[in-house]
Amino acid sequence: MRLWIVSVLVLTHLVLGALCWGKDGHYTVCKLAEGFFEDDTIAAVKKLLPESVDGGGLADFCSWPDEIKKLSQWQWTSTLHYVNTPEYRCNYEYCRDCHDTHKHKDWCVTGAIFNYTNQLMSASENSQNIVHYNLTEALLFLSHYMGDVHQPLHTAFLGDLGGNTIIVNWYHNKSNLHHVWDNMIIDSALETYYNSSLPHMIQALQAKLKNGWSNDVPSWKSCHFHQKACPNLYASESIDLACKYAYRNATPGTTLGDEYFLSRLPVVEKRLAQGGIRLAATLNRIFSAKPKLAGL
Ligand SMILES: [Zn+2]
Repeated sequence: MRLWIVSVLVLTHLVLGALCWGKDGHYTVCKLAEGFFEDDTIAAVKKLLPESVDGGGLADFCSWPDEIKKLSQWQWTSTLHYVNTPEYRCNYEYCRDCHDTHKHKDWCVTGAIFNYTNQLMSASENSQNIVHYNLTEALLFLSHYMGDVHQPLHTAFLGDLGGNTIIVNWYHNKSNLHHVWDNMIIDSALETYYNSSLPHMIQALQAKLKNGWSNDVPSWKSCHFHQKACPNLYASESIDLACKYAYRNATPGTTLGDEYFLSRLPVVEKRLAQGGIRLAATLNRIFSAKPKLAGL
């Protein structure tokens, strides 16, 4: 990965294209992941997390990359929250798509997941590498981008900036399609089904992981060829879902209401759950059954 070598370059900040799962979405992905951490992962994550006044876990820090990306010193990270694909192809290819607006290779969400996975891995294999990497940042970026890559419109068409330029109404409110998928579907679900309580929604997803989805969880976790992380698979799924569900019947000016909400909510719930399971699986592969990180 050349991510760090070229990180000194100032990148164009695509403001409209850099939005993410909202705070609730990222919290949910990381909270679900925490429930599947193996013991070594629990210990490693605890040591890497910043001190928290209320003793919170990883989920409390999973929106940090969104909070800092507009600061000048972190602007280079803003392009790492998504990957753009060609119009209407409905597929994703790493070599074709994973670059920034200046065609710098690896500068996209999947490249970032590979990069931060490799940083955490190399630190566990070779203590000399630790001086080059901030492993706390690596953990937080990996956890955040693993959520983003599961939001279908984070692997979506360049021409509409992943739905950001598609202006729609969400019930009676003007919005854009990207924001609908980052926030509005989750917000409406919280209001409609969970008494506006995020913990209740997370509990419902945890229950589904134990029952309805339990047969699917092993396949969600698996990563071919003994890789530690499989973001290319997740991005391919996302653009497929973007074409089949997000973009469908959501042309500019459309009013999206019950029909869209009720048919897309199951997709959002499953992507949040898959994000959580796969974040846990990736961190377990990095931290478990490995020599301890030096200094931890
Ligand atoms: Zn993001």
